Amino acid sequence: MRDDLRRELARWTEEGLARRMRRAEGPPGPRVRVESRELIMCASNNYLGLANDPRVAESAAEAIRRFGTGASGSPLLTGNTSLHERLESAIARWKGAEAALLFHSGYAANLAVLSSIAREGDAIYSDALNHASIIDGCRLSRAGVAVYRHGDIGDLAAKMADQGAGRALVVTDGVFSMDGDIAPVPDLLRLADPRGAWLMVDDAHATGVLGEDGQGTPDHFGLESGRIPIQVGTLSKALASEGGFVAGSKTLVEYLRNFARPFMFSTALAPGAVGAALAALEIVRSEPWRRDRLRKISCALRDGLTDLGFRVAPGVTPILPVWIGDAGLAVEFGRRLEEHGVYAPAIRPPSVPAGGSRIRLTLMATHSDEDLDRVRRAFAVVGRELGVIS
Ligand SMILES: *Cc1c(COP(=O)(O)O)cnc(C)c1O
Repeated sequence: MRDDLRRELARWTEEGLARRMRRAEGPPGPRVRVESRELIMCASNNYLGLANDPRVAESAAEAIRRFGTGASGSPLLTGNTSLHERLESAIARWKGAEAALLFHSGYAANLAVLSSIAREGDAIYSDALNHASIIDGCRLSRAGVAVYRHGDIGDLAAKMADQGAGRALVVTDGVFSMDGDIAPVPDLLRLADPRGAWLMVDDAHATGVLGEDGQGTPDHFGLESGRIPIQVGTLSKALASEGGFVAGSKTLVEYLRNFARPFMFSTALAPGAVGAALAALEIVRSEPWRRDRLRKISCALRDGLTDLGFRVAPGVTPILPVWIGDAGLAVEFGRRLEEHGVYAPAIRPPSVPAGGSRIRLTLMATHSDEDLDRVRRAFAVVGRELGVIS
């Protein structure tokens, strides 16, 4: 058995796919000490710079003092507190929904929704580039799963043409985590609604980031968020904490409370995480300059890298995939960037398709202009050294 695992690992390593965990020595700010070297952090989901904000930290500390370090029980038994309910109401109001429910991660929220509301005989229509937690949720549901081509409304419509009698659900990332592009949410809604299918949008990367009020992709398109029947999100990215949520109708939330196993059989979120998210949510809404700056620097760096000759997917999100292709070359690119003080590791299969390896940059509102200039210059040098640009 052990030899078997060892052989598999050896093959994985040979293909250049083995993973190694890095060790950071502080909070995920724009500059981070990684294994004793100071680097510009370009791989964090701390989009608005709130994971190291003293107001958020103080709110977490206060929540721990008042409610304890652990919730110490499932929300259905003893783990639910007035603090949890405050956060659920705040999220529901923000997302224009009747109600919201907290989970211990965004991953769990996706498993919970998909595995409980879709069953054998139902149909799930899932974008080809959806997050792994959506794929796993689809598998758990035992529903029939039709994967439509990425962002392709025509392909989705064709697949929905032979929809059966069961429940139907269309599910998509709001912002795609590896490509940084935005799902055509209004088109998806126009297609799903008249066919009696629910639309589920996982706005993990858009929550706090897109839209005037940071509500996410619906807000970005000028659509009322409440029109999306199932809104999933995470507290672990722009909201600077940990945990996931689902916002929707009171009926949906009541249903999940009764049937979603990842909710029922897991301890409620730790009060510190809830306290941090409550403070972060307030700042997300009261300091729109963070969103504005993030968008501005994301567009500027995209332009800068494109001008140097890199293939960067266009867009306005803070996720910038810089196409390299070969997995080994991408890893070497990431290693050399680090020598120039930039932390932006390669993304390889299975996170992306074979041949689609890339450097994936993520930016923070708190990156300085100097940080961004150093990043651009590092790409120029390494890109020429490795022949990715001329
Ligand atoms: C990060 C992410 C998740 C998982 O959220 P966690 O709270 O980290 O578990 C789910 N969906 C998408 C699209 C994500 O990017």
